[in-house]
Amino acid sequence: MAELWYPKARRPYGPDYKVSGPPQAKKGAVYHSMVSSYASAYGKLLGPAESSWHFSVRQNGAVMQHYPVTAWAWHCGDRDDPAGEISNNRDLIGIEHEGGPIGNESEPLTSTQLTATVELTAWLYQQGHIANLSQIGDNKGLWEHHEIVATACPSHRIPRRLIRTRVERILTEEEDMSEVLNELKAQEKFRKIQAVHVAIGALRGAGLPTDLKNVMLYLGIK
Ligand SMILES: [Zn+2]
Repeated sequence: MAELWYPKARRPYGPDYKVSGPPQAKKGAVYHSMVSSYASAYGKLLGPAESSWHFSVRQNGAVMQHYPVTAWAWHCGDRDDPAGEISNNRDLIGIEHEGGPIGNESEPLTSTQLTATVELTAWLYQQGHIANLSQIGDNKGLWEHHEIVATACPSHRIPRRLIRTRVERILTEEEDMSEVLNELKAQEKFRKIQAVHVAIGALRGAGLPTDLKNVMLYLGIK
């Protein structure tokens, strides 16, 4: 069962009414720029503007989650993308990034902010909320806002390709790590089997029964 709340995020909730309909399984995510501080953007979320989104990634690396991942929030319009695969707000998760204020719209993400968005994206992918990290094939899942709607957002602040590369590295590292763990478990099991063989040999040599109870006694397992 996919998780709907990012474990690393705090939860300053958005207003309940700022959704278009019932929760929807997601197919991908859209990166946005706040063009402002977080405080200002969160004020907008709580106010009457027809705007809502799931995640805010702050310049200090903190991640805020305002709605469950499946919420039908208002961040990139309700029309379909040109290929007709994605119905924007229904199918896509909105990820806002603090900074890039007017006059400095293309302000780069801070390195902690970039790492936070990479880790969030990896988690969303692992939970099945992003189907496809590439821009090829069905359910292309990782977008900058301007790639699906005519808008300046996110003013080229979000290095989508670099994020994808770093997400794939995390996924590979975790796979490698689980292989290492499996190997360690296999080695441990092998050592235990060897010890049992030694115990049986010793019991036989002493003319004692080699039943489970005696083997366990020999190995010091109560
Ligand atoms: Zn946007």
